[in-house]
Amino acid sequence: MSEADCIFCKIAKGEIPAKKIWEDDDCLAFLDINPQAPQHIILIPRRHIETIAQTQEGDQALLGSLLLAAKSIARDEKLERPGYRLVINCGPGGGQTVYHIHVHILGGRPMKWPPG
Ligand code: AMP
Ligand code: ZN
Repeated sequence: MSEADCIFCKIAKGEIPAKKIWEDDDCLAFLDINPQAPQHIILIPRRHIETIAQTQEGDQALLGSLLLAAKSIARDEKLERPGYRLVINCGPGGGQTVYHIHVHILGGRPMKWPPG
């Protein structure tokens, strides 16, 4: 999927509305439109990268920023206790439907293992 057709790029540029809950220069977080838990937040880098499989050595700082942002958002959203789940789906077999890397931050209910 090209950047021009990417729904998350459009959200990042403000071309499609979303309930933004946090942003900085590199990343943006907004509520999932089809929540799978009482709290379901999508966290994306502003830069268009299709999947985690396409990241490279040079993306180390960006990937670190994403995880640190996820931690801070979970804390701010009061998910730290009792806990929460971070998910990155990769490719069709991993259940990825939007091809712009994103971290799901899920909380507000007990999470099961193994996931579906
Ligand atoms: P994945 O299946 O890991 O690619 O996750 C994509 C997620 O993006 C799903 O949970 C969708 O509900 C969510 N999503 C798709 N379109 C939008 C949108 N316009 N605003 C917010 N979340 C969206
Ligand atoms: Zn994109």
